[in-house]
Amino acid sequence: MSTFAPDGNDQELERLRKENENLRRQLGGSQETEAEMPKPVPADSSTSEVTTIREGDITLRRLVQRIAMILQSEMILIMFYERESGELIAIPPSYGLDEHKLQHCKVRATQGITGQVFREGEPIIYHNAETDPRTRKDLINLFKIQNGICVPLIIEHRDEENRIVDRSTIGVLHACNKRHGEDFNDEDVRLLERMAKNVGSIIANLQLYREVMKEREELAQTFESLTSGLLLVSPEGKISQMNSSARAIFRVETDVVGQPFPQVLKDKSLVDFLQSGLGGKEAPPFELFLDFHGVERIYAVQGALVRSDEGRTLGYVSILNDITEQKNIDKMKSSFVAMASHELRTPLTAIKGFSSTLLEAVDDNIYGPEEQKEFLGIVVSECDRLRRLIDDLLNTARIEAGESLKPNYTRFALPPLIEKVAMVQNQASERHHVSVKYYDTMPETIIGDEDKLDQIFTNLLNNAIKYSPEGGDVIIHAKMDGTDCLFGIQDSGIGIPADHLQKVFEKFHRVNNEDNRKIYGTGLGLFLVKHLVDQVHLGKIWVESTVGEGSTFWFRIPSDLDIEQAKKMND
Ligand code: ADP
Repeated sequence: MSTFAPDGNDQELERLRKENENLRRQLGGSQETEAEMPKPVPADSSTSEVTTIREGDITLRRLVQRIAMILQSEMILIMFYERESGELIAIPPSYGLDEHKLQHCKVRATQGITGQVFREGEPIIYHNAETDPRTRKDLINLFKIQNGICVPLIIEHRDEENRIVDRSTIGVLHACNKRHGEDFNDEDVRLLERMAKNVGSIIANLQLYREVMKEREELAQTFESLTSGLLLVSPEGKISQMNSSARAIFRVETDVVGQPFPQVLKDKSLVDFLQSGLGGKEAPPFELFLDFHGVERIYAVQGALVRSDEGRTLGYVSILNDITEQKNIDKMKSSFVAMASHELRTPLTAIKGFSSTLLEAVDDNIYGPEEQKEFLGIVVSECDRLRRLIDDLLNTARIEAGESLKPNYTRFALPPLIEKVAMVQNQASERHHVSVKYYDTMPETIIGDEDKLDQIFTNLLNNAIKYSPEGGDVIIHAKMDGTDCLFGIQDSGIGIPADHLQKVFEKFHRVNNEDNRKIYGTGLGLFLVKHLVDQVHLGKIWVESTVGEGSTFWFRIPSDLDIEQAKKMND
């Protein structure tokens, strides 16, 4: 168990440990040699907790044996009151009784001698169990008992001046069957009462000890299961607590509790933050950038000084929350705004430029029909570009809102569609050559949304051309895989770094490097394409790429799409 108990818990544990030790000494007396005594262990190590509980158990067992010896009693039995059930239950250790048998022994607090002693807090001596009416409904019946004494187990709480401030009965102690056929007397009762005080106090201590341990364990487990990183440093500059999330953040694999924190954490900004926090200067929350093997993560760090009730500084606690994704989205949103404004302004500038040129020239007839046609053609294609951008934005918003892009399923001819998109893109750029490579005979017709499949091809081909600024071949690979159609759009362009291969399909995600920055885009195209493949056509899309060599975007769709299922997905 990791150790987190900077406050009263440790002191309480230490007090209990000492008390147990004293009792053990008192009891062991001269019979015990030093060598037999369990060695005291440091108060805050986990073995000490186990040892102290074990020591308490051993002490109690010896005490029970000693009572049996002193009273010349054949049986000794401890019964502990359980509040929830209202019963007195037999607890180990016992003497002269089968402990397995004892496991299920209980007596209601309202019944028998056991109940009466517990309720009234006064001892009872009985000389003939068989005829004594008080032994009815008591355990005494179960075990061949002739005579005995039952005394209450009382614990007393004293103040500093040793005055009793509180007293409570926690159970009873039975001594039964005096040896050699003799009977117990009043002197035995007084002796047993005195020894019951020790028994009561050990049991109470063990109980408390277990409770404190349990609380401590629960607290530690709670910290361990937090998804935020939790770090507690001591005023001496050591790590007092580091939960599993924090260990993962700092790539710490061994137990570092007790080690100087600057040595473990290394990051200067965090070390400064903790040091000024420990010095009493509450630093404002800050953002921690950690880079492990080129992967950067960002954490929001908040800290607070931990003080005892008396105002003593116990340490400085910090919580670390991973905000990398949030930061990335923020970054992408702002770069999207910049991109979108650029994307909107570029076609608008062209439209405005060419249309006003034509307008100014109307009266003077400067431009002939060919030129006018060319200018108007540019205006129309820029308008299309604007419309595409607006459609992309609206479609993204629709997908975001959980709406589908309203598929329109039909059976349509596949090869002509592929040829058409290839031809259109071929015309779009002179420096690129788009071709189709068939590996299998493709089905004549397939079921799907023709427009949306066109959109998928157009988008991927557009990208292939856009991200191959040097020009080159763009190949559409077409194959069959079972009943699925498999397409690959291959370019020889700038490529995509490995850590972006999944992310390019996220909305607004653009590779932010030297090559890519010069090529404008909104980061929405592949997000929409993925939706059209996955959702509309129940297919799958992925990309293979090598930076500097090129990329191939692969997607597969069923040739015999189950319309009912597809409609359900898009409802
Ligand atoms: P946009 O092209 O408008 O930025 P996309 O969603 O179409 O948005 O693409 C997302 C990102 O994926 C691009 O910004 C680019 O970094 C990368 N990408 C897409 N296609 C290619 C390609 N064929 N080659 C290299 N990078 C690509």
